[in-house]
Amino acid sequence: MRLPSLNVQILAAAVFGALAGAYLNHQGSDSPEQQSLLPVLQLTGGLFVDLLKMVLIPLVFTSVASGVASLGGHEHSGRIWRSTLIYYLGTTALAAVLGLILMNVFEPGKGLQINLFDQAMSSMNRPDNLTLPEFLHTFLRSIFVSPVKAMAEGAVLPTVIFALLLGLSIARRGEGADALRNLLSEVLEVVLVMVDWIMRIAPVGVFALLAHLVATQQAGLFANLALFIAVTMGGLFAHGLIVFPGILLLTTGTKPWGFFRSIQEALLTAFATCSSSATLAVTMRVAREHLRVAPRIAKFILPLGATVNMDGTALYEAGAALFVANLAGIDLNVLQQGVVCLMAILASIGAPGLPSAGMVTMIMVLQSVGLPIEAIAILLPVDRLIDAVRTAINVEGDLVGSVVIDHFSRQASLDHRSD
Ligand code: ASP
Repeated sequence: MRLPSLNVQILAAAVFGALAGAYLNHQGSDSPEQQSLLPVLQLTGGLFVDLLKMVLIPLVFTSVASGVASLGGHEHSGRIWRSTLIYYLGTTALAAVLGLILMNVFEPGKGLQINLFDQAMSSMNRPDNLTLPEFLHTFLRSIFVSPVKAMAEGAVLPTVIFALLLGLSIARRGEGADALRNLLSEVLEVVLVMVDWIMRIAPVGVFALLAHLVATQQAGLFANLALFIAVTMGGLFAHGLIVFPGILLLTTGTKPWGFFRSIQEALLTAFATCSSSATLAVTMRVAREHLRVAPRIAKFILPLGATVNMDGTALYEAGAALFVANLAGIDLNVLQQGVVCLMAILASIGAPGLPSAGMVTMIMVLQSVGLPIEAIAILLPVDRLIDAVRTAINVEGDLVGSVVIDHFSRQASLDHRSD
């Protein structure tokens, strides 16, 4: 018997996982079903994520270094860098503004019971209390790190930076560094074979992750935060289903339906793992095999995007800051909302592509306009749910970017040839 395609398997696993989770949730946390099954689900989902993380650093390193090494020598590399930067910043700003507009229109949080604060605060793990200058200082000092240390600790951003510099140096050396350039791209191809193997068990991993996620959410808290969640989800979906497809259609003429079908695998993995970095391996595969993005473009845009381009996170952080302001009874003026917008963009760039990373950088957004950071205690319990969707949007943004930049770079090559 032939198995259905991997896409269909993952989709079915997501649906059955959510149903199984809802059943377990209904049984209650003391039920024998939850007690016996949750640890198994957690272990299975955890192992799948471990496997993805295992290939992450080799993948990021070889992909950025070999991508930049071959791109550097390309006649249009300056243009590609510029369009990438414009695309990343432009779409992230759009997302943050959309988050702000929606929160201003629907004003969630105004009617919430404040005693939720106390309840959630007591169970909260308070992250470090960083002021903006402290945050910037810590952030900047974590960029240039010994590559050995960064790789051993699984720190993606410094690994990307080192790989970028290495790639540029290889490009600069020209033919003299051909052996190294080829070695890096061969290692990359081999790592992608491993990714292929890991993806074969993705349906099992996705089932376990989603079942565990749905089984462990608290229904009561959902009800209180319903409007905030609905508005945020609405914003994320609008960005993912209207803004991105619009950009794609206008710039490249790509039809949204076919695009979504091709990237399903990556969206579902992002949704289940809540991590752009853990999903990167799948994102790369989708871009190369389903979207036919030139490898030299995919290789450098996607790993960079997985750590710095996070539209879903920016939309969420800007919106959540306004939600907190509503809860605290503070009215933010236009200027303050502008600061929130800027900070949300910065915070999304600074957030690594890990589960709930946006929650941690959220503190700097709240602090920038004097909002109580204690309020994230309210957001934490529902963060995993929103994180799943915003991570999928983050990954979609990277994939849309790769198609757009690929399109422009092909056009530039054609223009150049016909000149
Ligand atoms: N989980 C998100 C990601 O990996 C980051 C965040 O918003 O927390 O893309």
